[in-house]
Amino acid sequence: MKSQQKKTKALFLHKILIMIDFNKRLLNWYHSNRRSLPWRQTIDPYRIWISEIILQQTQVKQGLNYYQRFINHFPNVEKLAKADEDEVLKLWQGLGYYSRARNLHTAAKSILKLHNGQFPNTYIEILKLKGIGPYTAAAISSFAFNLPHAVVDGNVYRFLSRLFGISIAIDSTPGKKHFHNLAQELLNQKNPASHNQAIMEMGALQCKPFSPSCIDCPFTDRCVAFSTGRVEDFPVKEKRTKQRHRYFSYFYMVENNKLVICKRQGNDIWRNLYELPLLESPKQLPVKSLKASLNTDHHTLQLIDEKKHILSHQIIHTRFYRTSTLPDSTGNKEQWMRVPIQELKQYAFPQLIVNFLNEQGLSINHE
Ligand code: SF4
Repeated sequence: MKSQQKKTKALFLHKILIMIDFNKRLLNWYHSNRRSLPWRQTIDPYRIWISEIILQQTQVKQGLNYYQRFINHFPNVEKLAKADEDEVLKLWQGLGYYSRARNLHTAAKSILKLHNGQFPNTYIEILKLKGIGPYTAAAISSFAFNLPHAVVDGNVYRFLSRLFGISIAIDSTPGKKHFHNLAQELLNQKNPASHNQAIMEMGALQCKPFSPSCIDCPFTDRCVAFSTGRVEDFPVKEKRTKQRHRYFSYFYMVENNKLVICKRQGNDIWRNLYELPLLESPKQLPVKSLKASLNTDHHTLQLIDEKKHILSHQIIHTRFYRTSTLPDSTGNKEQWMRVPIQELKQYAFPQLIVNFLNEQGLSINHE
């Protein structure tokens, strides 16, 4: 009992030690190391929102082009709200996690309707928008309005867990609460915008997932993970992501210079994006079984490509078949559209299909 009390006291004292000059060290480091990024040159909540949503699942390097293109195309809430969903998805093509684009579009419409096109300026109102969780609401409200809400993203979890040596799982409910409270306690109340930018940048550039730069880190002398040689042990995670295997057979048919495509429906990946006529099966079907299951002995199916596409929770094993007649029994017949090859660029496809079509010589990348 006594040793537990001693440990708790030691942890408490160490936390006080870190907190004494945490903000000063962090901001000094940030001013000499920060990257110049377009969304850091603005306090326009719309632009900050777009950048935050893009960066949720995307590296800065890849996100930059998308951000620029999105802002050029939809420079304000009203333009985005009034756009066609197909247009929004097309600009998102290749970024993945397409629900982000659909949610942006829905949220823009509600800002136009409920706030007369003015981006809400309180944390609570921002949090009500579709697709915005506590992290994004804290980021927008601090960066755009300098409101005192601490951000906790993957970079912050990693940095704080190492610095304080916190072994509570970051993906558990108590873990999320613990890190959120700690980040809020550390927040520089006078300058939440710079503080939040700085703490995320620290995780992104210095306290990186692999091979963090501990030697020239401004917190080396305070860092629990470094001083105990356990940098690789943090952050602690509870759950392992289970990946589900799926098996797709796509049918590629060009007739009179038109390609047959269809729009994905239902509550599944790539909703409202376009693809080729599809048959999904519980396992990979050999061509013979595929013909039998489609009842298409008279059709010619030629296997022309195979691809494995990995998503966060799914591994899609895909086969592409060239055909001259589409089997009626492919799942999505009522959605078939015959689109002239030169017009394919107007449609948003998942990256898997983009890669396949590009390889077939039908260039459908962004211009
Ligand atoms: S010393 Fe290393 S592990 Fe600790 S905060 Fe700095 S970069 Fe991260």
